[in-house]
Amino acid sequence: MCDVIVVGGGVIGLTLAWKLAEQGARVQLIEQRQVGREASWAGAGMLPPADLAVANSPVARLRALSHPLWPEWSAQIQSETGIDNGYQPCGALELAWSESGRKQLEAQLQSEGVSYLSLSGTDLKEFSPSLSPEIPFALHLPEMGQVRNPRHLSGLVAMCQTRQVEIIEGEPVVGFSTASGKITDVRTSHNTYQAERICLTTGAWSAPMGELLGLQIPVRPVRGQIVLLRKQPLPFTTILQQEEQYLVPRADGRILIGATMEEAGFVKANTVSGVSTLLQFAVQTVPELAKTEVERTWAGLRPGSPEGIPFLGRAKKWENLYYACGHFRDGLQLSTGTAVVMSELLLDRETSLDLSPYALTES
Ligand SMILES: Cc1cc2nc3c(=O)[nH]c(=O)nc-3n(C[C@H](O)[C@H](O)[C@H](O)COP(=O)(O)OP(=O)(O)OC[C@H]3O[C@@H](n4cnc5c(N)ncnc54)[C@H](O)[C@@H]3O)c2cc1C
Repeated sequence: MCDVIVVGGGVIGLTLAWKLAEQGARVQLIEQRQVGREASWAGAGMLPPADLAVANSPVARLRALSHPLWPEWSAQIQSETGIDNGYQPCGALELAWSESGRKQLEAQLQSEGVSYLSLSGTDLKEFSPSLSPEIPFALHLPEMGQVRNPRHLSGLVAMCQTRQVEIIEGEPVVGFSTASGKITDVRTSHNTYQAERICLTTGAWSAPMGELLGLQIPVRPVRGQIVLLRKQPLPFTTILQQEEQYLVPRADGRILIGATMEEAGFVKANTVSGVSTLLQFAVQTVPELAKTEVERTWAGLRPGSPEGIPFLGRAKKWENLYYACGHFRDGLQLSTGTAVVMSELLLDRETSLDLSPYALTES
């Protein structure tokens, strides 16, 4: 019997498995298909900052715990595995089309302790010459970072493997056996596994997973489409963000345009309206992109939670069941902090954050 079974091999499950194994736990990770191929693969990899001394919303506090770990953990992955996950503190411009929009953005950043510089007119033109002259204001966030999701996931798999995490792929978890308020068996399509503790990291599929255990986990799939452009030299090197839409420049001459927010069930298709909305946003923001080559498109399913706050904690109903799911639009950036607090919880240590704001409501 191992110490912990992690169900679900996205960025949340893989990072947690790594950190548990690093602290001496024997870990099995069970994935229904292939690890690191769902939302975590599809995301844009933006890593915004926050300051723990100032941030008071649950997401901002977890972000503040997570953000400073990225340079250190990325360097560790590179030195141990040789995999460069593309982590880069590239900065960002948050775009505002009106004075009131700019004030709103400033208030939001101040509430999270994020440092920024307000730009307009010739300062903005000099800072980012390719930006549309129609955009009157922007806030520069020097601490914004980015990571290349597929490379980071490969790095996580390698970190797990060197710490003897047993990764089991192609086996959906289909049921559990329970006795005396505990889970005794985890049943997959092929086998039965046992562990002292079980943690659900099943992303957008967490509601059906909870149902198998009589738990209501209010997580739903929220589709996000992305268009990838190829453009060299890059016309800009910081992330350009306007509310839910953004342009993320990659060092190898790619630009990601993201992302739609759609309730489309578990359908991961790209659509005409999704792709055209993204292309329109890109050209409106940086007009010269109109002539740029489209390389490919894709879509992923975010694990949407009602308030955008992830569910992190231990179930009341089953004493050896834990959960870390519902990271919605922020699962990459929050994966480091999530692994810290969840490994602390699973190993009976004091947690770095009070986890009560992240608890599931259980009847
Ligand atoms: C277009 C897009 C852009 C995004 N951009 C960003 C961004 O810039 N920054 C950011 O921080 N976040 C971003 N996100 C959000 C982020 O990608 C997600 O929050 C994060 O990937 C969630 O990770 P996860 O491990 O919970 O889920 P997933 O990566 O979906 O992993 C869950 C895993 O569980 C497995 N699973 C499910 N059911 C079972 C079962 N029964 N048995 C076994 N395995 C099972 C699945 O197969 C899957 O591999 C974006 C998402 C999308 C779609």
